[in-house]
Amino acid sequence: MKYDLASEARRQKNIRRSSIVLKDISAPQMLAQDLFASCYRPIIDLWTAASKAIADEYARTLSGMTTDAPADVQREIEQASSAATRLALTLTPSLRNWAVRVERAVRNRWVRQVYSATSVDLSTRLSVFDVEDTLQSYIAWNADLIQNVSDEIKQRVSNSVFSGLNERRPAREVAKEINEAVGLGRKRSLRVASDQLSKISATLADQRRIEAGITVWSWVHSGKRHPRVNHQARDGLLYSDVPANVGKSVDGKVVNAAPERGDRPGQPPYCGCRARSVLVFEFDGEE
Ligand SMILES: [Zn+2]
Repeated sequence: MKYDLASEARRQKNIRRSSIVLKDISAPQMLAQDLFASCYRPIIDLWTAASKAIADEYARTLSGMTTDAPADVQREIEQASSAATRLALTLTPSLRNWAVRVERAVRNRWVRQVYSATSVDLSTRLSVFDVEDTLQSYIAWNADLIQNVSDEIKQRVSNSVFSGLNERRPAREVAKEINEAVGLGRKRSLRVASDQLSKISATLADQRRIEAGITVWSWVHSGKRHPRVNHQARDGLLYSDVPANVGKSVDGKVVNAAPERGDRPGQPPYCGCRARSVLVFEFDGEE
């Protein structure tokens, strides 16, 4: 705990309620598009550009125009793959830039929420340095995911090319499969970017809550069309990671033990659930 928001709020104004639920904190969805555009799309574009060369080489190989048949088309694939790896290594500054913008958005929303709920002004007290480790870890995670997207495209392209050569499939057909492989990589990147935004913003919001000494939070279900049933069932329930709080109640609602870290709001793959910080002034039956 960096500071005790509940005590500061009490000093700031006369609070008669036993708890205040803050709004859930998320980052603008546009930042998922930005992550895709600045960090994933360059790799997709590189493979799109390489597709034509690979397909052409396939056609030449198939028609027996080259002397060293599969090796030439394999070389094209390897070249694209290593160019993608080199490009991926240059994307760290763009990833950092994205992470810093997400952090700022989450922090600003948190500061606004806290101020409107408690009149405590945190604007000059919080900084990006408080959560540097989180940013580092998401930068590294995304660098790894970008490489993984490229590897997956390479694998699919290779499968098409080599099975195509074995079966002597027409060049047009294989060219189409190569384009589809890149298209799948693109779709996956878009999903990954959106998922990474949910995860990093949930993690950052969680850190801001813990920093403020807030140990109780309420689950907000994403309302997505294909929900995890167990997440849907948690909507509106209270949780705490502090064992001493579990079983107590706040305004008539019982506090449950928080689920495992990986099963918290926004953490499992494509989970859009969020947490609302619950600032508890007194648990039921306590003075
Ligand atoms: Zn969920």
